[in-house]
Amino acid sequence: MTHHIVVIGAGYSGVIAANLTARLTARLTDARVTLVNESDRFAERVRLHQLAAGQVLRDLPLADLLVEPRIELVVDRVTAVDAVAGTVRLGRAGRDLGYDTLVYALGSRADLESVPGAAEHAWTVAVPADAARLRDHLTASASGGVLAVVGGGLTGIEAAAELAEAYPGLKVRLVTEGVPGPGLSERARRHLRATFARLGVEVREGARVAEVRADGLVLDGGEHVGAGTVVWAAGFAVPGLAREAGLAVDDHGRVIVDRTLRSVSHLDILAVGDAAALRTEDGKDLRMACATGIPSAQQAARAIAARLAGREPRPLRFRYFNQCVSLGRDDGIVQFVRSDDTPRRAALTGRAAARYKEAIVRGTVYGMRHPSIPGYL
Ligand SMILES: Cc1cc2nc3c(=O)[nH]c(=O)nc-3n(C[C@H](O)[C@H](O)[C@H](O)COP(=O)(O)OP(=O)(O)OC[C@H]3O[C@@H](n4cnc5c(N)ncnc54)[C@H](O)[C@@H]3O)c2cc1C
Repeated sequence: MTHHIVVIGAGYSGVIAANLTARLTARLTDARVTLVNESDRFAERVRLHQLAAGQVLRDLPLADLLVEPRIELVVDRVTAVDAVAGTVRLGRAGRDLGYDTLVYALGSRADLESVPGAAEHAWTVAVPADAARLRDHLTASASGGVLAVVGGGLTGIEAAAELAEAYPGLKVRLVTEGVPGPGLSERARRHLRATFARLGVEVREGARVAEVRADGLVLDGGEHVGAGTVVWAAGFAVPGLAREAGLAVDDHGRVIVDRTLRSVSHLDILAVGDAAALRTEDGKDLRMACATGIPSAQQAARAIAARLAGREPRPLRFRYFNQCVSLGRDDGIVQFVRSDDTPRRAALTGRAAARYKEAIVRGTVYGMRHPSIPGYL
């Protein structure tokens, strides 16, 4: 009997899960793989700050990234998962698609619910449509005025630098609760400060945003930080489908999985990438990143193939290698890290780091077509 594996979400994790599952199950069993995604294009999310800055991203049809002919691509929006019946609802087609094994890879978007006013007034670079809207807004406003980026993580840093470089008429402020790049070494942070100074990015550290308004931010304590445009880059949120389907999820709505990426509540469902609550062997949360999502997708594919072959899959073993940060088109930081993501002293900076990151970003898309290669983004 055919075993139908349905992967929902064709981001970095979903494409790799589909490609590798199809490859690994080809010789083992009569398995069929279907990949469902709301668009027929691959969204290269790690470049969305570049899209907001007005750069034209390469067109990546999903069909070109699927290397196994046995993968059926369904372009539709999943509106529900029925974990009892074993079906996903295809919203546009208005029909249900049955699965024997489901890989949940719906990724994430910006978390605009954590602070009042963010959903109404803030822009984001988290998904392609949002980044394109921000680009159009900045172009229409003749790229002048003050823009505040909220969030000192890697996405906030990349957005602040890219937008400051692309729109020199903008006054860019980075507002963050802690320090920008808390996971960077002192040497890398020195480089970041120098780059922000060169680009005219003003950094406001230790500032917790209490509210977003049309004219800027209100900080804890009541101080107003003026900004005509606010870009929210202070965290990602995941879709609610897993929670609505009754899957065990964590406080953020991410699917709780065991060490083989299988849902702890529904054994025929695996979750990968941003939508899964990924943990290290000693129980620490992994950050939402391609760097973690890609190995999780590879692991899920191996686990599915192993079980279909009647073997017990090996648990996920994960280690970090580096954090790659672009600072505009010709500058960056590559922070080498220990296996637990703490920074080593070694870091590449400047043009060499920008080239390195560009090679990794390109290599990641190449790697999706060669899904056994580890991803180091
Ligand atoms: C500007 C920016 C820069 C970043 N830089 C880095 C970086 O340098 N390094 C790094 O490791 N990470 C980076 N990240 C994070 C990284 O992009 C994410 O961690 C990664 O995309 C997660 O991959 P994923 O496959 O889990 O989900 P996604 O890439 O989000 O893919 C999910 C897919 O599911 C689809 N989908 C969602 N809902 C539905 C639905 N209901 N029905 C059908 N399809 C649906 C989406 O359209 C998408 O195609 C960056 C993110 C951003 C926004």
